[in-house]
Amino acid sequence: MYNDTRLFINGEWCDATGGATLDVVGPATGDKIGTVARASIKDLERAVTSSVEGFAKWRKVPAIERANLMRMAAGLVRERADSIARLMTQEQGKPLAEAKVEVLSAADIIEWFADEGRRVYGRLVPPRSLNAQQSVMKEPVGPVAAFTPWNFPVNQVVRKLSAALATGCSFIVKAPEETPASPAELIRAFADAGVPSGVLGLVFGEPSEVSDYLIRHPSIRKVTFTGSTAVGKQLAGLAGRHMKRATMELGGHAPVIVAEDADVELAVKASGGAKFRNAGQVCISPTRFLVHKSVCDAFAQALVRHAEDLKVGDGLADGTTLGPLANARRIAAMTSVVENALESGATVATGGARIGTIGNFFAPTVLTNVPLEASVFNNEPFGPIAAIRCFDSLDEAIAEANRLPYGLAGYAFTKSFRNVHLLSHSLEVGMLWINQPATAWPEMPFGGVKDSGYGSEGGPEALEPYLVTKSVTVLAT
Ligand code: NAD
Repeated sequence: MYNDTRLFINGEWCDATGGATLDVVGPATGDKIGTVARASIKDLERAVTSSVEGFAKWRKVPAIERANLMRMAAGLVRERADSIARLMTQEQGKPLAEAKVEVLSAADIIEWFADEGRRVYGRLVPPRSLNAQQSVMKEPVGPVAAFTPWNFPVNQVVRKLSAALATGCSFIVKAPEETPASPAELIRAFADAGVPSGVLGLVFGEPSEVSDYLIRHPSIRKVTFTGSTAVGKQLAGLAGRHMKRATMELGGHAPVIVAEDADVELAVKASGGAKFRNAGQVCISPTRFLVHKSVCDAFAQALVRHAEDLKVGDGLADGTTLGPLANARRIAAMTSVVENALESGATVATGGARIGTIGNFFAPTVLTNVPLEASVFNNEPFGPIAAIRCFDSLDEAIAEANRLPYGLAGYAFTKSFRNVHLLSHSLEVGMLWINQPATAWPEMPFGGVKDSGYGSEGGPEALEPYLVTKSVTVLAT
């Protein structure tokens, strides 16, 4: 039912040297469901050596052949979507239907990047002498080290992996120890499709030990991390000291602005759906609901009904729309967010507490009248909690939206072109969705500004960080 997960180094699945493992715990039951190999420094050394060899081979494979192999891998992911999604739900908790969407969208992402890799063009620049030719070449940066979190075990790996492979880089990923089996199946699809040995490596271990070793290693040329802002700043600092390129996809605290003229029903459906997807453990999850005072009560009541209609349960059970939180740390975090909000004077309109004592179930929660000083309005809650405040003017809402150091996603609901224009130009976010839920299509840039990080994981912008530019000038003799 659930696979124990091994390392993938030099084209082979292997145990860690010395056989060390870590336990994997199912969030619906709190029981151990399997193990994952815990890499030693020796294993990491082997992974880097093999990645250097893999890079030497892969960079010479023509882009069209790389794309063909990637497309085969995407096909295998699609064929295996049911079983990969099951593993994901067991280890991460999200409802099976959400896990299946994540796996199928991974196949879509792989295909988009496969095609985009065929369009990595250089250019010719008019020379100053007719005897000269000036060209600009784009080359793969080299072996990449990636670090990905547990909230989207497959999606967080696939964006980085696809950009790396499409551009001709080799790739080692430290995938999440808490949810290792589903990302391992993603790697397996690429291995089964015939990606040469050494091009892909998968390791697990003590996160700080692995990142410290890989980021410092002179053979690693690029670092990419998704996770919390605090850890991202540490890793970006280390990457900077070792002159490594870095992409950082970090925390967010997405504002949702519901204007006076918004379609409230649409706003509740779209932002409520986005709020409680994956139990709110999403970096682009809507968190600060800023609602015009004329529609504030109607919006809050409808969001409460939306929350109360969710069916909380084991992600494998039929009909579940909200699974358990991924780990026990999130339960402790949610409990303290609610306690702090109550102390600050907020009202719990629904939810607010853990459900039962087995597994990590937390009731979908709506807080109203939330003061600005409450922690939920300042620190990313990363869980199923929506916090609502009313506003008088759109300028006030925009100022609040921009108040925090985060700048990842934003949402707005309005029917007026004037508001759309103002919001599009004023909100300090990397991604803005107006009158709709989030759509993280691979062809659109995905990333943040300010403390939410830098670099993009979507669109043509996502390939650029995996490429170096070389200018070549030739004089005919
Ligand atoms: P955390 O900050 O300890 O870990 C977040 C992720 O970073 C995990 O996957 C972890 O394995 C990894 N990590 C931690 N230290 C690392 C290191 N030194 N080197 C490499 N990787 C390292 O916290 P957590 O309890 O796992 O998650 C809590 C917070 O993390 C959340 O509140 C949220 O802000 C953030 N988070 C963000 C995302 C995202 O998609 N941006 C995903 C998961 C967690």
